[in-house]
Amino acid sequence: MDDIPARTVDIVVVGAGIAAHRFVARMLEDPDRAVRITVFGDEGRLPYDRSGLARVVGGSPASAGELDRAPFRDDRVRLIDDDRVLRIDRGGRRVRARSQRWYDYDALVLATGTHAHRLDVPGIRARGSFLLRTMEDAHMLRAFLAVRATEMPRALRAVVVGGDEGGVDAACALHDAGVQTTIVDAADRLLPTHLTLPAASALRGIIEARGIAVRMRTRVTRVDPDATGAVTAVEFQDGTFARTDLIVTTGARPRDELARNAGLRTRPGGGVLVDADGRTSDPRVLAIGDVAADPASGGTEAALASADRAAATLLGARVASPVGHGWHGSPGGIEVVTLRVADGDEPTVDVPLPSRGDRVFGEVVLSEDARVVHRVTVIGASADASLAGLAPGSLDGQRAARTLLAAAVAEDGAEACTHGLPSAPLEVLAAELTDRGIRTVAEALDGAVESRGCGPCLRRLALALQERPEANFGVRPGDRGTLRPEVRLRGTTAAPVLEVRVGADSDGALLLVVGRLAARREATVRIDRGLLAVSGLRAEDMPDALADLRSAGAVVPEALIGGADLARPGGPIAVVRHPSRTGRRAGGARSAEGSA
Ligand SMILES: Cc1cc2nc3c(=O)[nH]c(=O)nc-3n(C[C@H](O)[C@H](O)[C@H](O)COP(=O)(O)OP(=O)(O)OC[C@H]3O[C@@H](n4cnc5c(N)ncnc54)[C@H](O)[C@@H]3O)c2cc1C
Repeated sequence: MDDIPARTVDIVVVGAGIAAHRFVARMLEDPDRAVRITVFGDEGRLPYDRSGLARVVGGSPASAGELDRAPFRDDRVRLIDDDRVLRIDRGGRRVRARSQRWYDYDALVLATGTHAHRLDVPGIRARGSFLLRTMEDAHMLRAFLAVRATEMPRALRAVVVGGDEGGVDAACALHDAGVQTTIVDAADRLLPTHLTLPAASALRGIIEARGIAVRMRTRVTRVDPDATGAVTAVEFQDGTFARTDLIVTTGARPRDELARNAGLRTRPGGGVLVDADGRTSDPRVLAIGDVAADPASGGTEAALASADRAAATLLGARVASPVGHGWHGSPGGIEVVTLRVADGDEPTVDVPLPSRGDRVFGEVVLSEDARVVHRVTVIGASADASLAGLAPGSLDGQRAARTLLAAAVAEDGAEACTHGLPSAPLEVLAAELTDRGIRTVAEALDGAVESRGCGPCLRRLALALQERPEANFGVRPGDRGTLRPEVRLRGTTAAPVLEVRVGADSDGALLLVVGRLAARREATVRIDRGLLAVSGLRAEDMPDALADLRSAGAVVPEALIGGADLARPGGPIAVVRHPSRTGRRAGGARSAEGSA
């Protein structure tokens, strides 16, 4: 912070979770640094990794998730592990704890994590109803299982409310402990903040294959206790019910009330708003971990990355901002890596990655022209080195995604499917796409029905589209105006349609050319998301029109200048039209054209 004096700096950290632990460790890296850090926790224990809780329920020792104690042995750190901060006095730069004491700060770091979110339904306080948020919760649940198992002549049954990482983790741990378990969530998919529908259904498949039941899009509306007050059944929104001996709720909400009460800016859905350096709306107050997480990320790795950034901010160092929102977790021991590289609502295409080895599911979600990676998800492949770039906080998700795609294409080999496309060398395919003015996966597959759902075809096409000379891999939405406009022809000789794809910040000269062209011939221009489609022109107008567009800076494929083949303009690239395998040459993209 600019005006922090050169004397020993007082830092107060509220919350003693994994984010606080990392922050403290970072601040102490230099043994000569003059800091005094006071850390408040209210659980009466040293910080631990909450993602180890389910293992404790399942029988692992309480030390599961224990974190390195070294930072808290340092003389510069004071851990107050059983007091709660109740108020921030920003004007006086101090906080008040439940013990009524005040603590001064030069910088304040909020690391308060999340609250457990208990269901508010009749019967929820019955014996056998648990939250799973703290180590104490895990111990209570474990003790309950041990006692209840002796009272029951059969395997215990559990309903876990929450299809988030905590819910999946808890359900897997209960299942491993011999409990018949059902996950229930109102969302349409598991891990809804992290996964697309296909990814979530792959995860669901893994979980169901273990023997865990999953009920999505439903809510628990009532918990029925028996005569002794113990949970005996739950009722769902649709009126059905399930017998159960326990119910575990894992939902959580950002614990942002301290910040709100202190007038700091918060998100409408909960959570403290921070800038790229981790500062809140008061530059002396920073926030890290779950309480400051973007709703689409969160989780352990994001908490660690945010602690690194906040420490760097206070130390005057710089940590490059991560690209996109990511999440990496292993609920129930199932590795899940997902990175949202680019946001935006432009249409996308899902390119599946093949299952192989440990990888059960993979997908790369690309813009329609395959140039921008929107999202990458891999489930079940911890050892995959190419995932390194996909970790939350990574700087090169685009490149990592491309590496994954290229590796998948190499693994597919030439004979992966019978649709003809995979046999064409990539550069031949890329040249074919360029020559034909094909820009998107959909255009390339137009008419090639079999290839549409074919993983090898989609992967190869995506890679070939990225290989096109003007493809600027790594461009993000927003940079796209720097790409040159492109021209292509569709329609028939009798009714040609001239298409000009323009960027977000297009040159007026080009738009003028298109406008004049249309006005001269009384043609119609349809505009759809950057695509100008001019219809009503005559074939003989084309040479002049193309020359004008080119001189206005548009990319006009040579094949069009040299005499557009309007008999088959813009048709599907021939190679996806499945020539007979015997008649195909290795460089089949062009050779197959005649058979289309
Ligand atoms: C069962 C379970 C499984 C999970 N599995 C995964 C997983 O597989 N992958 C993954 O990435 N994430 C997982 N998570 C989420 C992950 O644990 C959290 O993202 C992470 O713990 C966030 O760390 P944090 O330090 O921000 O907050 P927390 O860990 O919540 O720590 C905050 C601490 O601050 C204390 N505190 C709050 N307010 C005050 C106050 N006013 N005064 C004093 N102390 C206060 C709290 O009591 C708490 O001890 C899981 C969570 C649970 C519960």
